[in-house]
Amino acid sequence: MSGAALGPQATIGILGGGQLGRMLALAAARLGFKCHVLAPSPDSPAFDVVHRVTCADYNDTEALDRFAADVDVVTYEFENVPAETATFLSARVPVLPDPNVLATTQDRLAEKTFVSGLGIDTAAFAPVGGPAELAAALDRIGRPAVLKTRRYGYDGKGQATIRNGTDPQAAWHEVGAQPCILEAFVPFEREVSVIAARGADGSVACFDVTENEHRDHILKVSRVPATLAATAAGEARRIAETLAKKFGYVGVLAVEMFVLAGGGEILVNEIAPRVHNSGHWTLDGASVSQFEQHIRAVAGWPLGKPVRHGRVEMINLIGDEVAEYRRWLSVPGACVHLYGKTAVRPGRKMGHVTRVFAD
Ligand code: AMP
Repeated sequence: MSGAALGPQATIGILGGGQLGRMLALAAARLGFKCHVLAPSPDSPAFDVVHRVTCADYNDTEALDRFAADVDVVTYEFENVPAETATFLSARVPVLPDPNVLATTQDRLAEKTFVSGLGIDTAAFAPVGGPAELAAALDRIGRPAVLKTRRYGYDGKGQATIRNGTDPQAAWHEVGAQPCILEAFVPFEREVSVIAARGADGSVACFDVTENEHRDHILKVSRVPATLAATAAGEARRIAETLAKKFGYVGVLAVEMFVLAGGGEILVNEIAPRVHNSGHWTLDGASVSQFEQHIRAVAGWPLGKPVRHGRVEMINLIGDEVAEYRRWLSVPGACVHLYGKTAVRPGRKMGHVTRVFAD
């Protein structure tokens, strides 16, 4: 089902209650919308800032029925929403982006097959269903290589690097002995991402290419613009635009890419069918944020034309680094964002800080 443009008093349903849902809801509120968040955890950070909450499992069909009846459109802030949930809801209310996108992006094999089928480069990859297939895939792809679970991997979880001397069996068990893909290890020069929005009218607006620095596989710092030749930056944006169009996407998606040595060649690593941590800089660093773009798109509103306010840096506050917010509060120009999470755990994203400098 797809819908006409919503009026500003409409209610937007969001599946998932993390910080992405929270920031989507705040952007929606600024445009006059109400939000209803459905998420399984009572501690969901998005619950604190919305009109209505449903605390229920994604397979609770009674709760989903009530949720669908209360909202004008459903979107999601996390990509592992079960396909059955999205299908159930889409029979009752428009769900954007289209749930078909989930099936592709939830499975690394389906995702890489889709991307490479469009003639867009990725690392060499092979499916791995068991130890024998892993040995054959290693023969073909060579070492070093990265073994990744097909589903539910994030922030480096469900991944093992197989170098010279690594026992493949140990790697197979390290990732939980489950369906995987094996990828060639990419000796990248830098990691970048493009946040792209596609409106219901088919128009696409990309933010400037963002350069991402990870620490322990978790995003630590994003910088915009990326240190990238104009031709490579144009290519990165074209890739994101092509993917958004080929998916028939409505909303914001993020495409993570590797830039190879020399700066010219770009490989797609991963697609996130949602707003993304590497786009948080847009809240303070651009005329329209990734969250507002997503809300505009799913509401059938025209996209904003993003104008960057300068050179921007976004720093994640991870685990007990959240205590640094007090120091950041007194740094001129620093914008502090905290997600309202009470439990501090190592690796947990607790907030972020943005700084905008003259270009
Ligand atoms: P992913 O979960 O696929 O986004 O991977 C998390 C991080 O692991 C990436 O941001 C890279 O830093 C690293 N990584 C993933 N795949 C590869 C690869 N094929 N070669 C080298 N590094 C990789």
